[in-house]
Amino acid sequence: MSPGPVVLKFGGTSVVDAEAIGRLVRHVSEARQHGPAVAVVSALSGVTDRLLQLASAAATGNSAAIEAGVAELQARHELVARQVAADPEGLTTVLARGFAEFRNLLNAVATLRDASPRSRDAIAAYGELLSSRIVAGACSASGLEAAWVDARLALVTNDSFGAAVPLMDETESAVAAHVLPVIAAGEVPVLGGYIGATPDGVTTTLGRGGSDYSAAIFGAALGAREIQIWTDVDGMMTADPRVVPSTHVVPRLSFGEASELAYFGAKVLHPSTILPAVAKAIPVRILNSRRFGGTGTLITGSSPVDGPLAALACKRHITVVDVTSTRMLMAHGFLRRVFEVFERCRAPIDVVSTSEVSISVTVDDDRRLAEIASELSSFADVSVERDMAILCAVGDGLRRDPRLASRILGSLEQFPLRMVSQAASRRNVTVVLQDSVAAAAMIHLHATFFARDAVTQPVHEGVAG
Ligand code: ADP
Ligand code: ASP
Ligand code: MG
Repeated sequence: MSPGPVVLKFGGTSVVDAEAIGRLVRHVSEARQHGPAVAVVSALSGVTDRLLQLASAAATGNSAAIEAGVAELQARHELVARQVAADPEGLTTVLARGFAEFRNLLNAVATLRDASPRSRDAIAAYGELLSSRIVAGACSASGLEAAWVDARLALVTNDSFGAAVPLMDETESAVAAHVLPVIAAGEVPVLGGYIGATPDGVTTTLGRGGSDYSAAIFGAALGAREIQIWTDVDGMMTADPRVVPSTHVVPRLSFGEASELAYFGAKVLHPSTILPAVAKAIPVRILNSRRFGGTGTLITGSSPVDGPLAALACKRHITVVDVTSTRMLMAHGFLRRVFEVFERCRAPIDVVSTSEVSISVTVDDDRRLAEIASELSSFADVSVERDMAILCAVGDGLRRDPRLASRILGSLEQFPLRMVSQAASRRNVTVVLQDSVAAAAMIHLHATFFARDAVTQPVHEGVAG
């Protein structure tokens, strides 16, 4: 059996301009020397935000904003296309066709004054459709045999617009029909990430940051040798580098650790990325597209043993909802009723803790909070606290060393903790505190467990546990 391809995914900053696309082509060429390769690309950095702003402007009928926005985006894409393509006229003609469709779509939304999730997906998809055309052109210009593939033909999803769920059986057939023949012809298929279509061909998106997920879905469908996430940092860092200044790369992670970190805010990986990789036991590697020769972070099914913790993650500006049973004891069925309210309002819960009479949960998406609070109030007392943060310490080492959890909590003794939780996987310890102290708590926890020499030092002596 021939080895599967490597799937290389490049995020927005890795396709931001001609220089970045030049580096991308070098990375794909290097991979191609060792076997088949597939490239999955995000929109040019900042473009998806801009497209969604334009969708909102169109919904208010703001034609001037539409014209100015389309002109600005077209100029930006054409500039990059001219810099990277061997046949700039050919490529800019293809882009111009895309922009004509895009303008029509915005005008239709403006006429109807209605940007439904379905229309917003159709609009947002242009970021990846255009960038993938440019990248395919750049690959061909450097002598790499590459072919653009419309990702909407290859990734089949349900119709949950804005957060579409892949239909794996249909996607495997679609990939076999549209991607495998390109690989078999010795070419590198270049596809946009983030986008797909329903079985009827209606454009969908997988949700923000979803290009990582696309790469993993294509990787699973193709039986890839490795899924590579090329980004703007050296790998999964020991904490969010925007919060903690002295982070370093985590060389190895288990699938379980990477999933927890992504779920609890490590933006470098979309939270669903690991699922398709686990299903087919495909290694995932996170790499810096600005570097050549780096090894990044390798994520596999086995659990690395070095260090007590793998990394920290945080989710900022979340909301805590406290629900207290109006009866003295939590009556039978109370928890079910509480969770049903969140389910009905499609508000995912991240952290839960309970006492005899109350339950506290955190939610990230607070758009329907008023409705949630009102429904809960019909059978419980409800209070809501905004501007909280989740801080999460992750590592398979937590299972090996039962004292680790108390050392983590002990090291946070100067910070008032609002909630504490450890789930059955015993792979993370999660605390909720005020957002205003989250950065300080994160920096402190990082210094305690991840200072280069801290691993060998006794951590926070004297703490119970
Ligand atoms: P891309 O556009 O390549 O998909 P993203 O912006 O989605 O990149 O993800 C990369 C960013 O994730 C980094 O620039 C960094 O600021 C942020 N990040 C948050 N937590 C982590 C972490 N633990 N390790 C690495 N990056 C992280
Ligand atoms: N371009 C999309 C976004 O900005 C998807 C991605 O970059 O992963 O969310
Ligand atoms: Mg991303």
